Amino acid sequence: FVTGKLKATELAHAVWRSIVQKGDTVVDATCGNGNDTLAMLKMVAGERVQGCVYGLDIQESAIESTSSFLKTAVDGHEMELVKLFPICHSRMEEIVPKNSPARLVAFNLGYLPGGDKTIITVPTTTELALQAASRIVCSGGLISVLVYIGHPGGRDELSVVESFASSLPIDTWVSSKFEMLNRPIAPVLILLHKKLSSSCEATQF
Ligand code: SAM
Repeated sequence: FVTGKLKATELAHAVWRSIVQKGDTVVDATCGNGNDTLAMLKMVAGERVQGCVYGLDIQESAIESTSSFLKTAVDGHEMELVKLFPICHSRMEEIVPKNSPARLVAFNLGYLPGGDKTIITVPTTTELALQAASRIVCSGGLISVLVYIGHPGGRDELSVVESFASSLPIDTWVSSKFEMLNRPIAPVLILLHKKLSSSCEATQF
């Protein structure tokens, strides 16, 4: 881990790195300031294969913040691999092409740090977005959901995410939860791994 601390975001990135390959299509469902978008871009951008990062945020200002941040951190070629949309993540199927299923759909729920704390992910659209994510993620792919529980409504949102995770059929999905037992309000990481189809099981982790 980069900081030497086991932080939920770094744990999430480490899991993503074990699944995402160069050339993949991935979706950042909550761009915010672009930190996760950058991490995902570095995972998919290759010299010989071009990946694609779709980034969504309900706030135009977050999309602008992500775009400015990426321009300081990547070259023009990598920048071309990122497509940003100021829309609700429940609409992700409108932008991700059907012939290009996602290896990773990542959610970092809550509000934008340093931004308007009243613009926040809410259970209704989060649930719709999880349903959409489950339809666009490829076999062997991952839905990663980081849920903050320290603010009002955070635990309700966790409850919706956990219900969704628990409802996924066990023949196709592995649902897991990581929480810090000695930090009760630390963010909770929910990982939903879509199993490889049986013909590919030899390579499944
Ligand atoms: N991943 C970000 C980063 O690395 O900086 C942080 C994301 S921040 C915790 C949560 C973001 O979700 C906010 O920017 C907020 O605007 C966005 N958001 C809230 N509701 C949304 C929705 N329905 N669809 C998409 N984004 C939403």
